[in-house]
Amino acid sequence: MKVYNTLSRKKEEFIPLEEGKVSMYVCGPTVYNLIHIGNARPMIVFDTVRRYMEHKGYAVNYVSNFTDVDDKIIKKANEEGTDASVISERYIAECKKDMEALNVKPATTHPKATCEIDGMIEMINTLLEKGHAYVAEDGTVYFKTRSFAEYGKLSHKNLDDLRSGERSLLVSGEDQKQDPLDFVLWKPKKEGEPFWTAPWCEGRPGWHIECSVMSKKYLGDEIDIHAGGEDLIFPHHENEIAQSEAANGKPFAKYWMHNGFLNIDNKKMSKSLGNFFTVRDISEKYDLQVLRFFMLSAHYRSPLNFSAELMAAAKNGLDRIVTSVVNLNFLLENAGDGAMSEAEENLLAEAEGFVDKFDEAMDDDFNTADAISAIFELVKFANTHADAESSGAFLEALKEKIVMLSDICGLIVEKKQGMLDEDIEALIQERQEARKAKNFARADEIRNILTEKGIILEDTREGVKWKRA
Ligand code: AMP
Ligand code: ZN
Repeated sequence: MKVYNTLSRKKEEFIPLEEGKVSMYVCGPTVYNLIHIGNARPMIVFDTVRRYMEHKGYAVNYVSNFTDVDDKIIKKANEEGTDASVISERYIAECKKDMEALNVKPATTHPKATCEIDGMIEMINTLLEKGHAYVAEDGTVYFKTRSFAEYGKLSHKNLDDLRSGERSLLVSGEDQKQDPLDFVLWKPKKEGEPFWTAPWCEGRPGWHIECSVMSKKYLGDEIDIHAGGEDLIFPHHENEIAQSEAANGKPFAKYWMHNGFLNIDNKKMSKSLGNFFTVRDISEKYDLQVLRFFMLSAHYRSPLNFSAELMAAAKNGLDRIVTSVVNLNFLLENAGDGAMSEAEENLLAEAEGFVDKFDEAMDDDFNTADAISAIFELVKFANTHADAESSGAFLEALKEKIVMLSDICGLIVEKKQGMLDEDIEALIQERQEARKAKNFARADEIRNILTEKGIILEDTREGVKWKRA
């Protein structure tokens, strides 16, 4: 399996630190609002990486944090006249609902920054002891960036380049820094802000130290994969490396993975431009499985443009898989329990070729676009070779393959509890197209499938109406 590593800027063979196990940390959202579809991209992408690794037999320890103390959370709490924890707990609960709707598996652990303050104080103490940090007069603790010789190795910046752009690194209120490149580990409290007691002052942690500490606590000093959106490469992940490696004296993460950005109408998605959708907005217009399919239809490192056209294409793509499984289930209900014929066994061996194609695509740095093409080829193969004469064993084996590959992508293509409205509508749509193409045999077959399921069709002048018997 090859994984593109931001650290080396190359695809590398994936060799975990411990055989059969994968430790993975994915930077999670800051919880001050409903998550937007940009935040959903790393969730979906790295959930798919995890699912594929599990499919390959690895035991994956997957940690993803919630940043629950931050300026934006505090601002919102002040606006609502409530505590920051009320805001963060509300949006953690909402985020979990969205994750479930997107079929993103819960992490092995979802740590919250505010529950890990002791570990942060401990790591900051270690950095102070080792001479990698200092306390300013007002009690702010800074990381001494120049004390970490390898600073810049992830973002491929050198300290001189950074110096020339150092003006942009100056942050107001941080004027006691010894060097503009230094960054905050701990800052003093301000009026109306949550705070914790620490040896240097009452205050709160900087953002970067959270992830170094949570990753260490739940996964150990050295981990296999650290991931997030590409905007996190600098400074967040660069700073995490500096803190963790300076404190622990060991390499931090072996592979650094970053997803590309999600844009809207080819522009950066941002609140100020007003081109901004929450996952909840999208759920009112589309099944969130369509959003998941859309995200996986591109390579995770490419920028991806969100548009109504691409979502419509994603819906069609997903419908093709769902309809094929509905067909197979229908045929299965009527199939006898006779054994598979030799011809069917040969066909199944051929179908296995599409599974190999899927694996090859995923082994090549999780190329989900090609992996989904392999599912389409399998679906086409099933549609061609499965019919009323097929044995139950053959139909079952074909269906199992389609469902298994879809499940690795986290796509739910088989609804267990009877037929859902969208499955019915997908079949009706297919029947209309079959009639247009004068394929009346297929049109009748679909009507029969639906009748069997207790769905009654009525052709009216306004179109096809349906009801449950
Ligand atoms: P934040 O809450 O801003 O820290 O973001 C949480 C995660 O979402 C991080 O991994 C970000 O890199 C990622 N992210 C934010 N916006 C986008 C976007 N438009 N496209 C892709 N990933 C994003
Ligand atoms: Zn992080």
